[in-house]
Amino acid sequence: MRIEIGKFAGFCDGVKYAVEEAFLIASKTSDTIYVDGKLIHNPQTLDMLESSGVKTYTDDLGASTLNGKSVIIRAHGVSPERKKILIDNSNKVVNLTCKYVGRIQSIVKKHSNDGYRVIIIGNASHPEIIGILGFANKSDTFVVLKEESIDCLPTTSKKTLIVAQTTLEQKLFTKLVALIKEKYNENDITVKNTICNATELRQNEVLEIAERNDAVLIIGGKESSNTKNLYNIAKAIKPAFYVEYKKDLDSIDLSKYKNIGIMAGASTPDWFIEEVASSIKEEYTKKYKKAISKTLNFILDSYLSHAIAGILLSFAVYNILSQKFNYSIALIVGLYYFSMSLINGYTNHALKISDKNKYTLYQKNKYVFYTLIALSIIAMISLSYKEGIDALSLTVFSILMGIAYNVSFKNLKDSKIKYIKILSKLIPLKSLIISFAVTILLNGLIFLTNEDVLSEYRVLAFLFCISMVFLFMFMRQASIEIKSSQSDKIAGSTGLTTYINIKHLIALTSIMPVIVLMAMILGIVKGYYPLNFDKTKYFIPVIYSSIIFQILIRKPVYSNRYLFYLLIDTPLYLAGILALISYLFY
Ligand code: SF4
Repeated sequence: MRIEIGKFAGFCDGVKYAVEEAFLIASKTSDTIYVDGKLIHNPQTLDMLESSGVKTYTDDLGASTLNGKSVIIRAHGVSPERKKILIDNSNKVVNLTCKYVGRIQSIVKKHSNDGYRVIIIGNASHPEIIGILGFANKSDTFVVLKEESIDCLPTTSKKTLIVAQTTLEQKLFTKLVALIKEKYNENDITVKNTICNATELRQNEVLEIAERNDAVLIIGGKESSNTKNLYNIAKAIKPAFYVEYKKDLDSIDLSKYKNIGIMAGASTPDWFIEEVASSIKEEYTKKYKKAISKTLNFILDSYLSHAIAGILLSFAVYNILSQKFNYSIALIVGLYYFSMSLINGYTNHALKISDKNKYTLYQKNKYVFYTLIALSIIAMISLSYKEGIDALSLTVFSILMGIAYNVSFKNLKDSKIKYIKILSKLIPLKSLIISFAVTILLNGLIFLTNEDVLSEYRVLAFLFCISMVFLFMFMRQASIEIKSSQSDKIAGSTGLTTYINIKHLIALTSIMPVIVLMAMILGIVKGYYPLNFDKTKYFIPVIYSSIIFQILIRKPVYSNRYLFYLLIDTPLYLAGILALISYLFY
């Protein structure tokens, strides 16, 4: 079975902003925060909000509930009267109204004040429309959603404004606008198509997905109007199924379809789309393929692949430096990469949200993995001890650095001890710390055990090795951080994306391979770096890592998440394979 997930499936900008802000506000206080109505129509996210102390406020709770509390206005927006009630009864109001909804509110307010009749095409009971109505002159404002409702509009014509609910189906808007124009003979009618861009893109895409596939799965809350519209669009073309909870899949039989398209509403989080896609893949995969994928999953989830990648990378560095390969050093690096990643699997609390399969594997095999971590650390220490006291010191230092990277200082932020406070500020730099740790360990061990790495041309080759290892490590970490930034924020984890805008992080990471290559070219031109294919061939994994990074960041959701984890490590494998070619043929 082939699964295609829509590019625009999942959180739109407005929902993303509202959800992330709500979690951010919650992470800064232990007080309960209220949202005026459901923040989004997604039960999974609402459950997580509730457990983070963000509750839903409804009028039946009584306005006194808000006394001394902060209250959030959700992306749908509210009327000015409602806003006043919230301000009067709470300590603080945080307005997270989506900018597109805010735009409709302003248009309606302006035209209403200018004496226009306002016709809103949308669902009269939807919170967005209720809020917008508060900006209009009620006696001359009408909400229509069906053709029949047009008959109930006033018969006399006057200057009229027509706007749409942001999540309305484009086809319906066009049809009703035409009928309204017909009713009033096109007299003095101003049409503002206020369907938001995100909705339009999603609706166009679901159409294409339905045409390309045999059946379509629409993921989202049953109360979400934009999800309902997606479902209706898909259903008109191909068999379509609504999935609100994972258990909904139990009653859906997809066995007769070869190609499945997946689309999700604007309030569906990425990790839930990925979870549904993985479940379908798992359910409908043939037995032998299932066994292969289970083995592959285990190798990737248990980070055994990291041990191999670390060894291969060491092999490449030895080749660039023309040094005799030292198995002990390569093993130390492989074990280090393996064990530190495994520890991270246990300390990364966002995993529970972003990758449930991995989380379950770790919880089920706790003692096996704890033993493997302990054995790896013992092996690293004894192997490095044999290489000398300097190698041992560097290995112990790197292990401590790796453990520090994994320890969460989240609860130590308020500590009065100066050094702990400084350490807590390093949390967002964990990607840098782990990248530095592997780079220093690998290159440092080679430097300590091979005195001539700094001789003649090797200085530049050595610098190239340092920058190449750092580049591969950082690109890997950055790809993971960008992909899981949504779940990290929801889980309250801090990372680079908490402090650096994702666009800036992408730009920074994209420029790194260019710098590494420029340094290599400069070295060749100046005659410090050997111009022979055996040494210069490492430009291939550098360019490849850059291409892989650009591909991976463009797709936030994967139907096969293992493909993502496999791909981010391929530059390391490629470097190792190139070293192997040298070993065999040069
Ligand atoms: S669907 Fe559009 S209008 Fe609604 S919250 Fe998202 S971006 Fe804003």
